[in-house]
Amino acid sequence: MEPGSGGNAIETRGLRKRYGRDGTGGEALKGVDLDVPAGSIFGLLGPNGAGKSTFINILAGLVVKSAGTVRIWGFDQDVNPRNARAAIGVVPQELNIDPFFTPREAMEWQAGLYGVPKSRRRTMDILGRVGLADKADAYARTLSGGMKRRLLVAKALAHRPPVLVLDEPTAGVDIELRQMLWAYVRDLNAQGVTVILTTHYLEEAQAMCDRIAILHRGALVACDDTSALVGRLDAKTLVIRPRAPLSAPPPELADLAPSLRPDGALAIGYRRGRADPLTLLDRVRAAGVAVEDVATEEPDLEDVFLALTRGAEAAAG
Ligand code: ADP
Repeated sequence: MEPGSGGNAIETRGLRKRYGRDGTGGEALKGVDLDVPAGSIFGLLGPNGAGKSTFINILAGLVVKSAGTVRIWGFDQDVNPRNARAAIGVVPQELNIDPFFTPREAMEWQAGLYGVPKSRRRTMDILGRVGLADKADAYARTLSGGMKRRLLVAKALAHRPPVLVLDEPTAGVDIELRQMLWAYVRDLNAQGVTVILTTHYLEEAQAMCDRIAILHRGALVACDDTSALVGRLDAKTLVIRPRAPLSAPPPELADLAPSLRPDGALAIGYRRGRADPLTLLDRVRAAGVAVEDVATEEPDLEDVFLALTRGAEAAAG
């Protein structure tokens, strides 16, 4: 199956959602235009209440949009709802698994729901890939939390959709399972599955995602390649480790607003292109600091996130 025009797995235009029977509730999505390139691992970030779940639930066909268009793998949700639904699998946040089904039964049920003929089902193959082959016939209630979560991933893949959405997949998950889930997501992506995930862990988004969109109060405030997004901030930090510990930053440097880190290093923020780290270093030396070591630090996604959501707040007044 080919993705939609322009190689996008997902395309939304003017997507709006207003909750409430008469549509008088707040607007959870305020006209979102978003493209998710086929083949990417795409991160959807945003503070609580930003509209991430609403967006994902509309894609999954669980929430009805108020306006706009949604194309999944080239299929317009309003024109080809069945094809649009068949092209996407969603791993929910909650562990909602029927305790009396075995993983094999749960997979078969799910495939049946999507009308996948028996001959085209890959139940054991998919269970094997999430490390549950030996649990295929165990009752779900006997599975550990980690196994249940892997079963949810397997269920979302039962109809072999080209697009997989994971809603906060690692919230409250221990490190070992988190690493296993990520390895599995990377593996699926290498096999051609487009992955969309929401996460609160910025570090994780930075490590996992090729491209990131940031939602804030129902509007998109950024959408870019991860490296471009991080590079967008020109704030850098010069970190100087003094040979002898300082009790306070030298008063001669007060105009640079330096700070003293818990490990004794002196940190000076500067803007790329407006200040030169070597000139700053000369100033530090001239202030009598004997320099042991020097480094510069790039901003991380957390800094970008804060700057963008703050900027959006200021723009909204
Ligand atoms: P996120 O997933 O980013 O935390 P949500 O999509 O859950 O954001 O919520 C976006 C906004 O829509 C919030 O203001 C939330 O209160 C509201 N909202 C979400 N679901 C409903 C609902 N079923 N009924 C009414 N309002 C809702």
